[in-house]
Amino acid sequence: MALHFQAQELEDQLTRLFEAAGSLAPEARAVASNLVLANLSGHDSHGIGMAPRYIDAIVEGGLSPNSGVRVHTDHGMLLGLDGQRGFGQIVGTQAMEHAFERVRRHGACIFSLSHAHHLGRIGHFAEMAVERGWISLHFVNVRSRPVVAAWQGGDGRFGTNPCCIGIPMGLGADRREPFVLDFATSRVAQGKMRVAHNKGQSVEPGTLIDEHGHPTTRPGVVVVPQSNGRYGALMPFGEHKGFGLAVACELLGGALSGGGTWHQEPNDHRSVYNGMLGIVIDPHALGSAESFSAEALAFVDWLKASPDAPGTDGVKLAGEPERAARLQRRTCGIEVDENTWAEIVTSGAKVGLKI
Ligand code: NAD
Repeated sequence: MALHFQAQELEDQLTRLFEAAGSLAPEARAVASNLVLANLSGHDSHGIGMAPRYIDAIVEGGLSPNSGVRVHTDHGMLLGLDGQRGFGQIVGTQAMEHAFERVRRHGACIFSLSHAHHLGRIGHFAEMAVERGWISLHFVNVRSRPVVAAWQGGDGRFGTNPCCIGIPMGLGADRREPFVLDFATSRVAQGKMRVAHNKGQSVEPGTLIDEHGHPTTRPGVVVVPQSNGRYGALMPFGEHKGFGLAVACELLGGALSGGGTWHQEPNDHRSVYNGMLGIVIDPHALGSAESFSAEALAFVDWLKASPDAPGTDGVKLAGEPERAARLQRRTCGIEVDENTWAEIVTSGAKVGLKI
């Protein structure tokens, strides 16, 4: 059975949870609000269901509440940042603010961010940039239990390595909703398997292999250890091409940032670290803001003029589904399955809080 909450109610409960785990009030509120926004955006995989994992990571010592980003390398429009194992929602936002200051000065910024604890929904950071009229690209690796198989590989070797591109649409009075492409390079996000497993659902064929490398539709293979003590794995999206992009995210987000790549046997640590390469560009600084805007709008209008394919509701641009979900869920509330809620209640007990 599912429970229903209003967003504010969930944000308040999670704020109490993170405060009980040691976060100062503004940090607790910011992390809670970020997670609830993921639920509002339709991405329950990156919403409040992550909170128990964060609490375990704090208890385990892998996530440090009240940490901030440290600038370790500064060459004007190039910045090297260390997230110092702080909440990704906090150090990721601070990283973007550092980048924005450089974009104002130099027109663009390339930054790396290492040792951030889970950054959550990467689109959140792209949305911060497009709000300012800037383009934002993100290549991210995940250091945690390796849940994604290499193309033609038979076990998990790396994480769900998300990639995100935010592009503002139009200028001044012609401003439209932005393009925000934000996805895991696995067929689906690992968190979606947790949600499906908690709901007792099976998943699309072609999404998963089991602990022996055989195809399966049971999401539990990547959520709980299997008969031989090992897990199954998610497949990369887009066959060899998606796999290539996942590797690029590992190399750019992990190796280039200094946060590190994954090349070890799986462990049961609860912390999840992200490394990110971010690139933020002001189109005005390239001298093409006017034509960029005109050409972008012309292309989008051309796409939207396509007739609906039979049985579909027509062409959408990345970012539209999340905005539609926000409208709907802000009004109708957020559904939380019983298992997810029970995990949150248990987490509260771990830090002495009755939820
Ligand atoms: P998804 O498959 O639901 O959607 C991906 C993208 O496709 C979005 O930009 C969305 O706007 C767009 N989209 C969806 N339907 C569309 C349609 N019909 N037409 C056009 N565009 C459409 O996303 P996902 O792969 O499950 O990822 C979910 C979230 O998980 C993302 O926010 C991602 O950043 C996050 N994530 C984070 C980590 C981490 O370690 N921090 C790891 C993996 C994923």
